[in-house]
Amino acid sequence: MINKNNNMDLKEIWQTVLGEIELQISRPNFLTWLKESQLIEKNEKDGSVLVGLPNQFAKEWVKNRYHKLVLSSLRQIDGSIRHVDYVVLNNQKKNLNPAITQDSPQQSLIELKIDPKTNLNPNYRLDNFVVGSSNELAFAAINAVIKDIGQKYNPLFIYGGVGLGKTHLIQAAGNKIVEDYKNKVRVLYVSSEKFISDVITGVRNKRMEDVKQKYRNIDVLIIDDIQFIGGKPTTELEFFYTFNALYENQKQIIISSDRPPAAIPTLEERLRSRFEGGMIADIGYPDYEMRLAILKTKAQQKGWIVDEKILELIAVKVQKNVRELEGVLNKIVFYQQYKDKNLDLKKIEDIINETVQTMSKNVTANDIIKAVSDFFEISPNDIIARNRKQNVVEPRQITMYLLREILKMSYPNIGEKLGKRDHTTVIHACEKINNEITTNPTFNQKIILIKEQIFKNS
Ligand code: ADP
Ligand code: MG
Repeated sequence: MINKNNNMDLKEIWQTVLGEIELQISRPNFLTWLKESQLIEKNEKDGSVLVGLPNQFAKEWVKNRYHKLVLSSLRQIDGSIRHVDYVVLNNQKKNLNPAITQDSPQQSLIELKIDPKTNLNPNYRLDNFVVGSSNELAFAAINAVIKDIGQKYNPLFIYGGVGLGKTHLIQAAGNKIVEDYKNKVRVLYVSSEKFISDVITGVRNKRMEDVKQKYRNIDVLIIDDIQFIGGKPTTELEFFYTFNALYENQKQIIISSDRPPAAIPTLEERLRSRFEGGMIADIGYPDYEMRLAILKTKAQQKGWIVDEKILELIAVKVQKNVRELEGVLNKIVFYQQYKDKNLDLKKIEDIINETVQTMSKNVTANDIIKAVSDFFEISPNDIIARNRKQNVVEPRQITMYLLREILKMSYPNIGEKLGKRDHTTVIHACEKINNEITTNPTFNQKIILIKEQIFKNS
């Protein structure tokens, strides 16, 4: 039942709206674009509301694709709403009064908190990182690097599955280095996505020198999710040069990846062997004790008092992903605050089951087809079939490209799998997508999001 009560607070209204929208669009799209959205304000006079989204890209996407849906869902709950505006939030998690950032494509996420010089988020710290058997090697290696920058383990390559703490750990290392060495050591954290887009923009605007300068002028380069770099010749080459320049000058490089260097199929051989020449440490799944410790740390950090029994139940049920552990905790606390003060353990179990995604190890062709079709909200059959519907051309080409890039399938095999198409069609598609990725940052972003989905779902 929809509650027409005007006194519903913004959070409740938005929660209900999201509940509606969730039913209408695919789950990956929902998670990607709307999960971190908020209703920020409502102007009673003119019936306008402001919806906050975590970054520019999400803002554009929601505005262009889901505006009608957002508006109609809002109006179902509150008929006085007439108009929706969208803004980028600076801090999507806690901030109740977010500063509205400017409409520039570069500005996004928690950026107002992030130190623009280093790109580091101060919330990731070593002292709020829980250490246990699954990450103690990586933790020890990070500490050795902090003590002995550029000397001991270079590069330090940390890998592990999604949501197991890679970003947290490498950013925490950056923060600690800044703290310990003050201004003597220049630290820069970038996602490989950011690195790629810098290189693409540099090439496009003929400002590659500036880009080189930026990356070679630092003492500690921390680069996150390197697996996305592989397979793009310009960026990979540029990364290789940057890497060498830093390495030869004994600057420290810290890299994260979702898998070991040997398992990044698109990575060029010489780059791979460079990575393997340093220190490689993995982060595995946390055991029960550690999961419980993490939950306690998170609850404490947020000032929440949560029954030990609930924490134990979450720790038992959520095993494969710390981010999910945190997500479930957030959700339960949210339920308790806004919906039902006395959640019983059965209900909590339901919430956990709803939230937890199943994870398996290997990506298959069907995972890729599914992720692409979910993303574009078409059916997997449309991608596989021999039809020429205009709206499936691009998704199909992207699928071909990803089958090639991720699974290293042969062109004829890809053609065979996707409607018995000729291998030259596949080659053409792969070239076209590759070209688009290197020239169009927005498009590249899209590919990255689809890839994230593939690895998340698999
Ligand atoms: P990854 O980069 O490996 O996908 P993140 O570093 O983003 O994962 O971690 C996901 C979430 O889990 C973050 O909120 C992070 O703070 C938290 N987290 C992961 N591992 C730990 C840990 N050992 N101690 C505390 N928090 C952790
Ligand atoms: Mg990460």
